[in-house]
Amino acid sequence: MQVLINSMFVLNMLYFTTTLVEGAVLIADKSVPKEVAEQAQCYAQLLALDQHVYIAISFSRDLPPGVDGYTRYQNTESYNEGHQIRIVINANINRAQQIRVLAHEMIHAKQFVEGRLVRCSTGHYSWERGVCTDTKHLPYYNRPWEKEAFKLGNQLYYTYTK
Ligand SMILES: [Zn+2]
Repeated sequence: MQVLINSMFVLNMLYFTTTLVEGAVLIADKSVPKEVAEQAQCYAQLLALDQHVYIAISFSRDLPPGVDGYTRYQNTESYNEGHQIRIVINANINRAQQIRVLAHEMIHAKQFVEGRLVRCSTGHYSWERGVCTDTKHLPYYNRPWEKEAFKLGNQLYYTYTK
């Protein structure tokens, strides 16, 4: 895991790190229940995220009101390190909600990895290679990447819970 040193994903309390066969590398810190990390693995497999995708998952008790989770992305492919993704889930919501939020955030991870969603600067995103839009002017539920994440995230969640 030396590729992660010098990156935004240095976690000093690694709970466990796992590589799926031909799959994404998942790094869960101690705040993440094992059960949730296992669900993340399952989602990564269903989404066919490959070994060039590093996903660091953590839980937070300090997210702003109304925020259940978020996904940050850094493309370090030019350094041979692949795609690095940080997913943070709200620790204060119940487990079923957390698993559902995780599915939603994993769809964003896939959108970033595929280059369909690009963060241009703080609060500005480009979708499907379109112009960078200031999300201040685009209500949350009207953002195409959110519409997709809700639809496909729910499908992913139900595929898992079936
Ligand atoms: Zn979202």
